[in-house]
Amino acid sequence: MGQSCVLLNGDYTFLGLVDWKRAMSLMFAEKVRVLKFSDRVIQGVSRTFRAPAVAVLIKVVRSVYRGRVPFSRRNVMVRDRFTCAYCGTRSHPITMDHVVPRSRGGKTDFDNCVACCRACNQKKGARLPSEAGMPLRRRPWQPTIAEFIRIRLRQSDVYQLLVELGLL
Ligand SMILES: [Zn+2]
Repeated sequence: MGQSCVLLNGDYTFLGLVDWKRAMSLMFAEKVRVLKFSDRVIQGVSRTFRAPAVAVLIKVVRSVYRGRVPFSRRNVMVRDRFTCAYCGTRSHPITMDHVVPRSRGGKTDFDNCVACCRACNQKKGARLPSEAGMPLRRRPWQPTIAEFIRIRLRQSDVYQLLVELGLL
């Protein structure tokens, strides 16, 4: 990610890290105020400048604390870190499994869907985990946006994540 800039919410709580280039573009777009510039001097095309080290969003994104991540297959994979809920493998392709099968009334939501490797998905079929003798390593849950930010902090630019979640 290159040199990172700390991004604070509008209420000065920590949100995550963004690339300094992202921080610069947010500054020019007047989405953030830079509180601190880094000591490192960057050579631009026509001048040198200092990269932002700490920036604060002009807007307070309150929904970060109480908001629920919208359900999608992709967001289930992110929550489960692309790891099979039954055997713990990270082999691809990873699929999505309904813990209670749809044919038995299982819902398509965060409380009933998990990441699942293809082998486990085929083995389990339209059975409950108890029937298949395949206990879940962790119960599925509905993540909050704050949890999601923690999960994705190393994978992604926090600003991009907030945009994806429709918060900015
Ligand atoms: Zn598996």
